[in-house]
Amino acid sequence: MSFDYDLFVIGGGSGGVRAARVAAQGGAKVALAEEDRYGGTCVIRGCVPKKLMVFASEYSGMVEDAQSYGWDIQPGAFDWDKFKSKMHAELDRLEGVYRNILGNNGVETFDQRAMLADAHTVELADGTKKTAKHILIATGGRPSLPDMPGIELAITSNEMFHLEKLPESILIIGGGYIACEFAGIMNGMCVQTTQYYRGAQILRGFDDEARGLVSEEMCQRGVDLHLGTNILEMRKEGDKIWVKATNGDEKLFDQVMFATGRAPNSDGLGLEALGIELGRKGEIVVDQYSQTAVPSVYAIGDVTDRANLTPVAIREGMAFVETVFKGNPTSPDHELIPTAIFTQPEMGTIGLSEEDAREQEPIEVYATSFKPMQQSFAGRSERVLMKLIVSQATRKVLGCHIVAPGAGEMIQLAGIAVKMGATKEDFDRTVAVHPTMSEELVTMKTPTRTG
Ligand code: NDP
Repeated sequence: MSFDYDLFVIGGGSGGVRAARVAAQGGAKVALAEEDRYGGTCVIRGCVPKKLMVFASEYSGMVEDAQSYGWDIQPGAFDWDKFKSKMHAELDRLEGVYRNILGNNGVETFDQRAMLADAHTVELADGTKKTAKHILIATGGRPSLPDMPGIELAITSNEMFHLEKLPESILIIGGGYIACEFAGIMNGMCVQTTQYYRGAQILRGFDDEARGLVSEEMCQRGVDLHLGTNILEMRKEGDKIWVKATNGDEKLFDQVMFATGRAPNSDGLGLEALGIELGRKGEIVVDQYSQTAVPSVYAIGDVTDRANLTPVAIREGMAFVETVFKGNPTSPDHELIPTAIFTQPEMGTIGLSEEDAREQEPIEVYATSFKPMQQSFAGRSERVLMKLIVSQATRKVLGCHIVAPGAGEMIQLAGIAVKMGATKEDFDRTVAVHPTMSEELVTMKTPTRTG
């Protein structure tokens, strides 16, 4: 049977574009459909603009620090419009890069929604049908909001990049990556920032000591964080939003942002009719090669809800191409993924938290928390954390957790050692780079705790 394409990719985000490009480079005839902008969540409404906003927000504290270092400069106002238009120009540029990558590699693109008509047929929104030997679903995810009175007044991270003006006050709901990152951004942009998190401590699932420090420092820097608190209802009051919280508080905010998790984009793709299994959250169920229950259909990235991170989606896409087009069955490696949370201060982490490691086996914990030189000289009381979790039996470093400016950059490198199976003694054999914060990772001699 002959098909129009060897591969039809639905979704032009990080994972889909990478798979399409690599398959096309290998000689496959490839098409890709994207209903929105190319680049997906990461480039258009996620990692990239978020990080630009983190950078923008961090300058607010830098003027004071510079003064402490002898600079005669005065703080000025932050011009949101100027920053926003520059940020969007950069996103336009990046979208162009993504389109060019596809075009230059001979991938045919369709700027419209697509769904599956059968195991080898994709139907585009205009009714056109295209056949393909393999179909790859890489449609990502979207913010999910709880049902509650007044929810239509809320915004999500999607809208944060398009605010007409910076609010004077904002309430952020949630305690995950997105809520905590935006709390830092808004606070840094001098917006009065309140955060409600329903649980006992933000960033559930990460190392307790690390998230405790992030939480403490966020509060120090001015985020009005309420733990064990959730929102009950909202209503419009003049040009503000009135909010009632579970702790009895009733307050007015200019904006209310929900960061209460993300849902896989698996609706309306014709999946159930084809017999493709969906999980409880709507995620596409795949095997270790990203193959669905229908052998010609594969899925990668956030729509499969494995590890919802851009570099993971890219690797899943590469493994798919390796498996299907290069005759080399490869499953993406989801073990020991380093990750950073761009809170202020940043957190970088890989491997097991102290709590999870202790459940697994006897461990030694090496941790140090201190005031780093640069900030302490500037008169700030901020602390950083460097922490290693070590297996007593194998001496391997099971987890590394860093809370510090630049922790994302640090964990990328420490991650290589941990992924290689480095022992505590391997860390110790490495000469310290002095004076740095991360040198503590190779100079901690005595366990802080064992057990
Ligand atoms: P998360 O799933 O990480 O966090 C959702 C938060 O919302 C949790 O604190 C959760 O509380 C809370 N929540 C869920 N439902 C409700 C509700 N009904 N009422 C109140 N609170 C609720 O989702 P995010 O949206 O923050 O991020 C999604 C994913 O995106 C992340 O898991 C990550 O994979 C990825 N991401 C990665 C980034 C990075 O690498 N730096 C940055 C941003 C996103 P509870 O803990 O009690 O369940």
